[in-house]
Amino acid sequence: MSDLETYRQKARTWLESVAGEFGREARRGNKVEEDLAAGRRYMAARHDAGYAGINWPTEMGGQGLGHLEKITFEAEEMQFGMPSGYFGISLGMPIPIMMRYCEDKAFVKERVIKALRGEEIWCQLFSEPSAGSDLAALRLRAEQEGNGWKLNGQKLWTSWAQYCDYGVIVARSDPTVAKHKGLTYFWVDMRAPGVTVRPVKLAGGDSHVNEVFFDDVKLDDSHRLSPIGGGFGVAMTTLMIERYIATDSAGFGPHLDLFVNLAKEIDVNGKPAIEDGRVRSAIARNYAMRNALDAITARAMKMMQAGMEPGPEGSLQKLVAVRSRQKLSELALDLMGTDAFHFDEHAYVKENWQTSWINAPTGRIAGGSDETLLNNIAERILGLPQDHRPDKGIPFNQIPA
Ligand SMILES: Cc1cc2nc3c(=O)[nH]c(=O)nc-3n(C[C@H](O)[C@H](O)[C@H](O)COP(=O)(O)OP(=O)(O)OC[C@H]3O[C@@H](n4cnc5c(N)ncnc54)[C@H](O)[C@@H]3O)c2cc1C
Repeated sequence: MSDLETYRQKARTWLESVAGEFGREARRGNKVEEDLAAGRRYMAARHDAGYAGINWPTEMGGQGLGHLEKITFEAEEMQFGMPSGYFGISLGMPIPIMMRYCEDKAFVKERVIKALRGEEIWCQLFSEPSAGSDLAALRLRAEQEGNGWKLNGQKLWTSWAQYCDYGVIVARSDPTVAKHKGLTYFWVDMRAPGVTVRPVKLAGGDSHVNEVFFDDVKLDDSHRLSPIGGGFGVAMTTLMIERYIATDSAGFGPHLDLFVNLAKEIDVNGKPAIEDGRVRSAIARNYAMRNALDAITARAMKMMQAGMEPGPEGSLQKLVAVRSRQKLSELALDLMGTDAFHFDEHAYVKENWQTSWINAPTGRIAGGSDETLLNNIAERILGLPQDHRPDKGIPFNQIPA
């Protein structure tokens, strides 16, 4: 048995031992605050068991293992439905960026350990009302004041901001240069005077994204994580930092087996839906597509095992998996007929077709919209010419609104 397989089995045994307290069944019906509290207890237990910061250096409170061990653990953990989602962004991007760019290492180490134990949560304040796919179009201003900075403006779609202690933020420090060149990157205290967080309710009923307003929020220059005007580079590093996270060919929705079961239970024209040619062909197409995605993941894992860096084909994963999850969920709802109107906003997305369907559109936008991923595939895999960029090189304050 390979070392990785031994690691997987040990991790699985630990996850099984805590699933009764933290897993999907234990969480059923939890209100968000109760679930978050359970999440914090789970994160502390995960840290105590040695499954936190798996690929981070031991001197920063991590386990000093490789990326493969991390993905292996995440893939196992996903199957149990543990309450770790609240901490995904915090540990996925802001904390690694702090480890890399914040010079006060003692301060960072304390933050890392508190974040790993779920005691503190960090958010990523990038998107704004008019800057998402085109991040460099952001408008939130950072003006120098004394030895520090003053922030004014708005961020949007900030996941979990209402529960966050800190965040990383990109702001426009110079509007007179080209849009990519006038940005600076900072960390902020989410409890500082002048920070206001307002949750936004999504179609599925939950409010995990927020509007965040900054009114004269003061920062010391020690909060700066990039050179002045060098924020775009650090922002790109943030987005690339964990390119290979555990993926799911079901697009983080229900497994195909659940669809097959549904098609056996439901009658269409007096016969089980599973006997209908169109339903059978949807199942076959999904089966083939999910196997192809699993093959791409297996190849990426093998490349990492061989010390190589997998390429941009990761863009294919999210694009194809979430899109097909949405279509399959739609077909499931069509088969269910009026039963599809029963909507339970606490239902689990991996086992409920209504929840999967209504939340699928956010999955097609967050972390790179379909069109952005298509551009990425066109330019980086197929080598097609770059997308049209009419504002390239023009000073930001001269770009027509
Ligand atoms: C659930 C959820 C959680 C999120 N969490 C965070 C978070 O924690 N922090 C954060 O900073 N942001 C977060 N976001 C924001 C997310 O990153 C943006 O929504 C995303 O980048 C798209 O930006 P936008 O919403 O401004 O849409 P736009 O960029 O305005 O896009 C609108 C539409 O135009 C298309 N489009 C844009 N540019 C092109 C182009 N060049 N060619 C072709 N089509 C194009 C897009 O694909 C899309 O269909 C979250 C979003 C969601 C839905």
